[in-house]
Amino acid sequence: MILSQRRRLLGAALALPFAGSAFAQLTCGQLTARQTEGPFFKTNTPQRSSLLEKGDKNVLVVSGLVVSGQCKPVAHALLDFWHADELGDYDNQGFRYRGHQFTDAQGGFRLETIVPAEYPGRARHIHVKAQAPGKRLLTTQLYFPNDPGNVRDGLYRRDLEIRDFKKGEGKFDFVVEA
Ligand code: FE
Repeated sequence: MILSQRRRLLGAALALPFAGSAFAQLTCGQLTARQTEGPFFKTNTPQRSSLLEKGDKNVLVVSGLVVSGQCKPVAHALLDFWHADELGDYDNQGFRYRGHQFTDAQGGFRLETIVPAEYPGRARHIHVKAQAPGKRLLTTQLYFPNDPGNVRDGLYRRDLEIRDFKKGEGKFDFVVEA
């Protein structure tokens, strides 16, 4: 199962049309995979790039770009993040660990929050909606590399892992319709 998945991933990487080009580093030929929204999305989240609260431990910083399928940075793209707290619970009353932001003129974003806890049946993950101005909304989830829960979670995808994850900091680039 895992071996055949790996083989498929390798096959996909070799088939990338832009391999060897200036953009070989950025896997922007393919749009970021869509995933289910889950039951806990809420609209009207506060606009903020830091979801941190006083006394928070396990700080997580994720930064990166929103780009188009043609690798062009997307300025003022919407990113709306929500995730479970340190106990694996969602705040369905208020907006704890919920917030949206817009990419800067270079398509960059930076999210400050905590590493969410796992909850039954799910690997550690962060929900997110990403949207270039006026374009189709992408709903997906981000995962943590080497998390023991990944192999037990049928939704987990390696291409949705936060990359270069070290000491609470990592990267992710969203590729959206733009
Ligand atoms: Fe969830």
